[in-house]
Amino acid sequence: MYAEVIVDIAHSDVDKIFDYACGEGVEAGMRVEVPFGNKTETGFVMRVKESTALDSARVKPVLRFEPALGEECLALARSIAQRYRVPLALSLRLFLPAEMRTGKVSKRMRTAAFLQGEEEISPRAKRQAEVVEFLKDNAEADLAFLRERFGAAAVNALIARGTVGTKPVRVLRTPYVEAVEERPSHTLTRAQEEAVSSIEGTEKTVTLIHGVTGSGKTEIYLTLIARQLEKGRSAIFLVPEISLTPQMVVQLRARFGGKVAILHSRLSAGERFDEWQRLREGDARIAVGARSAVFAPLKEIGLIVIDEEHDGSYFSESAPRYSTFEVALARAKYNGCKVVLGSATPSVETYRRAKQGEFALITLKDRINARPMPEVRLVDMRREVRRGNATPFSAALREKLNACLSEGNQAILFLNRRGYSQTVMCRDCGNVVKCKNCDVALTYHSEEDCLKCHYCGARYKTLSACPACGGTHIHYMGTGTQRVVRELAKLFPAARILRMDVDTTSGKEGHYAILKQFAERKADILVGTQMVAKGHDFPAVTLVGILDADMGLHFPDYRSGERTFQLITQVAGRSGRAEEKGEVILQTYDPENYILRFAANYDYEGFYEHEIAMRAAMMFPPFVKIVRVMATGESEKETLEALRDVYGRLQEIYARFEGEFLFFHRMHAPIKRIQNKYRYQVLMRMTERGPLSEVYDAAAAVKQKNVLVYVEEDPANLS
Ligand code: ADP
Ligand code: ZN
Repeated sequence: MYAEVIVDIAHSDVDKIFDYACGEGVEAGMRVEVPFGNKTETGFVMRVKESTALDSARVKPVLRFEPALGEECLALARSIAQRYRVPLALSLRLFLPAEMRTGKVSKRMRTAAFLQGEEEISPRAKRQAEVVEFLKDNAEADLAFLRERFGAAAVNALIARGTVGTKPVRVLRTPYVEAVEERPSHTLTRAQEEAVSSIEGTEKTVTLIHGVTGSGKTEIYLTLIARQLEKGRSAIFLVPEISLTPQMVVQLRARFGGKVAILHSRLSAGERFDEWQRLREGDARIAVGARSAVFAPLKEIGLIVIDEEHDGSYFSESAPRYSTFEVALARAKYNGCKVVLGSATPSVETYRRAKQGEFALITLKDRINARPMPEVRLVDMRREVRRGNATPFSAALREKLNACLSEGNQAILFLNRRGYSQTVMCRDCGNVVKCKNCDVALTYHSEEDCLKCHYCGARYKTLSACPACGGTHIHYMGTGTQRVVRELAKLFPAARILRMDVDTTSGKEGHYAILKQFAERKADILVGTQMVAKGHDFPAVTLVGILDADMGLHFPDYRSGERTFQLITQVAGRSGRAEEKGEVILQTYDPENYILRFAANYDYEGFYEHEIAMRAAMMFPPFVKIVRVMATGESEKETLEALRDVYGRLQEIYARFEGEFLFFHRMHAPIKRIQNKYRYQVLMRMTERGPLSEVYDAAAAVKQKNVLVYVEEDPANLS
C-alpha cells in the first residue's frame, strides 16, 4: 500500500503529493511522520492506493501515523487551497491547531490506582488496611495522592502483591473552569418559538435573524443547538473573538456542561489541544469560538451559528484570506445542515441577500418582555468647544453621569479610537476633508506630510484652514482612553473606573478579568474602545456615553458609515437591559449626519435604504468587487519587478474582460513601507462576473524570490 502525502511545509516548491509505502491502518486524513530529505517531517495522508508510479524499491516508508482529519476536512482543504491559490499544506493547517501539527503538546496523563484483588491484610499492616478501606469507598484514586497520604511503602507493597492495580488516566486541561454556574433555561417567548420553528421548517440553508439588541437571539441559538444534540448531531457556535465573555461561557456551560469545547486563540497550548481532542473524539459536541472554530473537527454537524455576523473579525487577514461564512456554507452543504446568522445590525451585503430571498429572514423588533430601547440623545460638541469646554465630556454627559452614579447604577463610556488618529477634521464646523473622486475621508501621512486617498491614490496638501468654514482649529489627533480616565477621575473622584483597551487586555483571560470585575459591580464606570461594544449583558448599566460618535464615520473605508451605525447600535444596546430604563448620550461634531440620526432612532431599514443607494451610486460593494493585488518585499527593486510581472499578466486579463472592469490602476500602496517592506499594488474594481479566478492565477504565477504577491477581496483596510 502507498500513501499520498502532503508534507507540512507551506512552500509552493513542495506543494505536491509525495508517495510513501505504508501498511494496514494508514488512512486518508491521518497525520504521519515521514523521511523527507535527510530529516523527518510531519505530513498528511490525502489518499491511500494500491500501487505507485515510482520505483517501489526506492519509495520510503511512513514512520508513524495517527488519526487527525476527516474526509470532509480533506475535501474542504483542497477547495480552499484551490480557491485562494495557497499551498495545500497551508490550508490543511487551518484544520489543526499548531499544537496538533508539531506534536510538541500531548495528552496529559496521570496514574490512577484501584482495588483489583481480595486479600486478608495482616492487622499489623495498619497503613495498608487504610489504603484498602479508602479504595473501597473511592472506586479510583490518584496514585501520587495515595502515596502522599498513606506512605509510599504501604501503597507499593499492595501494588507488588497485585491487590491494587494502576492504570493511566487522561487529565483534561479545561479553560474558564470557574465559569460553571446553575442557570435555569428560559421558557421561550412566542417570538422565539416562532423563530425556532421557522428556522427548522425553512428549505433555505441560511437564515438571518435580524433582532434588536436584547431580543433574545442567544436563547434561540441555544434551543436550536439543544435540538440538534437530541438528534445525535453536533453544532458550531461562532462569535467574534472579543465576545467570548464570561456570560457566554457561563450560559453555554450551564446548558450543555462538558459537551461544550471552547476554541480560542488565547487558551494555553494544552487547553487548546485537549478541547480540540475532545471534539475530534466526540466527547464534546459543541464547538464555540472565534472564526477559526469553523474548522472544528466535528462530524455530523447539525447547525452552524454565526453570531454578530456583521463583525469584521470573520474575515481572515492572512493567507488564506477566507470568509468564515463561505467556509460555514461549504460545511453546511456537506453535512446537510443549516446556517443561522444573527445580528442587530446585519452587514449591508447579508441583508441584501436576505431581502432578495437568497436567505430566510426573521425580524425581532422588540426586546424581551417589551423592555424599551434606551433613549438616545445627540449632543453637539461644536457648541461645547465654543463654550470653552476642552474636556472630552459634554455638560449633558456630566450631568447624566452624576445622576447615574448617585443612584448606584453603572455606566459605560465608549471611545472610537480606531478612526480618530489619521483623519483630519475642523473642530469649528465638523467638516472632514474628503477625496474629490471617491467621497472617502483622506488620511494624513506624517512621513510625507500630505493627505492621501486610499481608494484612488490621489494626494492633497495639508491644510492650515478649513476649506468649508475657514476655521483654524484643524484636528489631527484624538483622545485616548487613558486621558478619558484621567479627566474622569478628576470629575468623579469617588467613582471606581475600569479601562478596557488593547493595552489592558493582554494575557490569556484579559477581557474576561475586566468584564468579570465590572459584572460583579466592583467598578462604576467602564471606559473602553470597540471591545466594550459587543454583546455584553450588564443589568446595572443604565447610561452609555459615546464620546466621539462621528470619528469612525471618516475612517477611509467605504464601510465606515456601516461600521459606525453598527457600533453605535451595539454600544447603545448595553444600556437599560434589566428593569431600569437606559439612556445613551451620543456626542458628535456632526449632529445632522444621517448615519447618526438613523442610529439614534434605531432605524435599521432607513439606514439600509440610504446606504445601499449610496453604494449603488458610488459603485462600491456589494455592487462591485474591490480587488487588490499586493506585492511586498524588502528590496524595492525586487518588489517592483514582481509588480511589473503581475501587472503585465493582469493587463492581458484586463484586455480580455475590459467590460467587467470599472477601475484598473497600478500604484504604490498609500503606505509605501510597513515593517521595512515595500508595498506596491494593482487596485481594481470589477463586476460580479469579473475574472476573479484569473486574477488569482496571475498572482500565483509570479515567481519572484523574496517577494510576496497576494490577492485581497473587498479588503477592510486599503492603507
Ligand atoms: P440578544 O442576544 O438578542 O442581544 P439575549 O439573548 O442576550 O439577547 O437576551 C436578552 C436578555 O433577555 C438576557 O438577559 C436573557 O437572559 C433574557 N431572555 C432571553 N430569552 C428570554 C425568555 N424567553 N424569557 C425571559 N428572559 C429571556
Ligand atoms: Zn479618491
